[in-house]
Amino acid sequence: MAVHQASRTPVFNGPAGWSVILPPVHPRARLEGQAGCDVAIVGGGFAGLSAARRLRQIDPHLDIAIVDAARISDGGTGRNSGFMIDLPHELTSGDYAGSGDSHDRQLTRLNRHAIDFAAQAVGDYAIPQGYFQRTGKINAAASKPGLDGNIHYAAHLRELGEPHEMLDAQAMREITGSAYYQGGLYTPGTAMLQPAGYVQGFAAGLERGGVRIYENSPVLRIESGNGWSLATERGEIRAPRVIMANNGHLESFGFKRGRLMHVMLNACMTEELSPDAIRALGGQECWGATPADPMGTTVRRIGPAQGGNRIVIRQGGYYRPDMQTSARDLARVVRAMRQKFDDRFPMLRGVPFQYSWSGHLCLSRNNVSVMRELEPGLYAACVQNGLGTARGTLTGIGAAELATGNTSDITAFFTSEAEPVRLPPHPFDTIGANAYMRWKEWQARLE
Ligand SMILES: Cc1cc2nc3c(=O)[nH]c(=O)nc-3n(C[C@H](O)[C@H](O)[C@H](O)COP(=O)(O)OP(=O)(O)OC[C@H]3O[C@@H](n4cnc5c(N)ncnc54)[C@H](O)[C@@H]3O)c2cc1C
Repeated sequence: MAVHQASRTPVFNGPAGWSVILPPVHPRARLEGQAGCDVAIVGGGFAGLSAARRLRQIDPHLDIAIVDAARISDGGTGRNSGFMIDLPHELTSGDYAGSGDSHDRQLTRLNRHAIDFAAQAVGDYAIPQGYFQRTGKINAAASKPGLDGNIHYAAHLRELGEPHEMLDAQAMREITGSAYYQGGLYTPGTAMLQPAGYVQGFAAGLERGGVRIYENSPVLRIESGNGWSLATERGEIRAPRVIMANNGHLESFGFKRGRLMHVMLNACMTEELSPDAIRALGGQECWGATPADPMGTTVRRIGPAQGGNRIVIRQGGYYRPDMQTSARDLARVVRAMRQKFDDRFPMLRGVPFQYSWSGHLCLSRNNVSVMRELEPGLYAACVQNGLGTARGTLTGIGAAELATGNTSDITAFFTSEAEPVRLPPHPFDTIGANAYMRWKEWQARLE
């Protein structure tokens, strides 16, 4: 018999703008009393929801329950920038290029599988089209090193045979309205999500198909013995198979301790732009720009189909093994984001940020995920590194396949990955990682 007690459960700060700008969703029931199912899933983010969908595809009769610590879309899945990227997106590389051609080709193929899986879910669950758009994205460059990074990445894309287009400053201005950017690299395969709208629609579609979802029910203990039991404050659910889809909080249950890196990322969303502000801004209604240097600033312009005419900006990461952001941390990065926003959009100076929030990114130093059977009947779909939209979808699919005795390219890819490598002990990991990230952010300050 194995008992895994949660040392911490998720704490979120700042309402993520993505969900607040959508029509409110009625809260779901908490897990109370005794319940049972065939497969229980801990976590209702990209990984957990995708696992439930894949389980249903494999066996429509499976009784499935998802238990989440918060509301669906309160977690990382509803707090991100919504870039579901098909190409290599290696955050620790200077320009996103991955570790080699054959690995990058394989990852691109898998990421596209994830995007297709999401697209089919959007169709099946009647998720509004504005929440999932295959419009591509731009790597925006604002300095010589940024332009060089784009040239280098474009050469890598040429080797991979991937379509791309170089944009000059004028083209960037026509798209973004901003004269800040000197150039850009457009790639067509990224799907842009309204992340909260996408997951809420996904969850509602699963429920209509009979999947049970419990919200505001942090799992506090998992225990084996004649199957598994998951205990929350007020209830317990028993299942022969369990999928842990709680990303970095896998470590909170004692798994992969000292091997997972917990980075907090931050974002701000403006208030609804007035007609005058929209006119002054110019450019297109919807676009998404990741920075040419991965440590720079991500910017999106969204329109009414995503919840309003607004700009969303993401910048500033810091390493926090306790997976939390303090009010001071958030205030500091919001100040920095204000500066980045004003630099890019001087015509919108004074337009307030209506929402600012922080969220959790879980990485391993060697960029591997944890998608495997941890103990008999206990599976993990965790550690998504820099691309949780696609990677979370894939690990969820893979864990569902493993849990039902199936294999595929996805299970083969993840089960052949190495273990996450061990990190330096506390506090050296925190001091080293934060010093490194500050230095890299300073280098990428113009991007
Ligand atoms: C500001 C920001 C911007 C980002 N931008 C992007 C981007 O553009 N593209 C991209 O691909 N990725 C991006 N990411 C990363 C991405 O959001 C994550 O990698 C992704 O959410 C991981 O999905 P997941 O389903 O594995 O985990 P999560 O989305 O974190 O979901 C895990 C769920 O588990 C639940 N949980 C945890 N512990 C328990 C427990 N004890 N009991 C019950 N439930 C529990 C949580 O409440 C949560 O809902 C960004 C992240 C942030 C913070």
